[in-house]
Amino acid sequence: MTADLAAEWAGCTNCALAASRTHVVAGEGPAPAELMLVADAPGFHDDRQARPLVGAPGDLLADLLASIGLERRDVYVTTLVKCRPPGTLSPGEDEIAACRDKLERQAGLVRPRVVAALGDLATRSLARSPHGVAQLHGQVRRAEIGGREVALLPLYHPAAALHNARLLPALEADVRQLGELLGRAVVARRPAPAPPPPPAPAAADDEQLGLF
Ligand code: SF4
Repeated sequence: MTADLAAEWAGCTNCALAASRTHVVAGEGPAPAELMLVADAPGFHDDRQARPLVGAPGDLLADLLASIGLERRDVYVTTLVKCRPPGTLSPGEDEIAACRDKLERQAGLVRPRVVAALGDLATRSLARSPHGVAQLHGQVRRAEIGGREVALLPLYHPAAALHNARLLPALEADVRQLGELLGRAVVARRPAPAPPPPPAPAAADDEQLGLF
């Protein structure tokens, strides 16, 4: 499905972002998939590689998904708009609106039960809320996408957590909640090494064995 959509959309000029992109970043992953991730827009490396959420944010995403027993290949990953805006600009409302039918079509094909919005624009757009991710992260709500009702969970974008480490604990907590929504056991993301046990006094060995 991913290759088909990428080929179909490769020449899209439906909005001004066509002028700033190298590639249309269609999205990738299995269809159907229980979980769909929707980030704001392709980043610099995403644009170059024609893949969403690559580089350091993609590595953090993979690490977070592993903490709820998922691999990236288990989830569908895409963006609100499929083309990278110029420089550090965010996509405008008209560009988000112009690209919306593509996201709706993907959601109709993927048929997710849970959608995670990664970032402020994805949160506002999918939650249809004036509030952004800082207010809504970690709050599950019902939303309609692809003609179906889904559980929507806004999360900080991994790139935001890399830029501002103070956001990382909230992102980790929200991913644990995502795991609970999906009915997945949560495993420790970075287990701290266990301290070496103190040497047991030789005289206590026999007493300890008696405890078991
Ligand atoms: S952002 Fe979407 S609508 Fe705009 S040119 Fe790219 S693919 Fe087309």
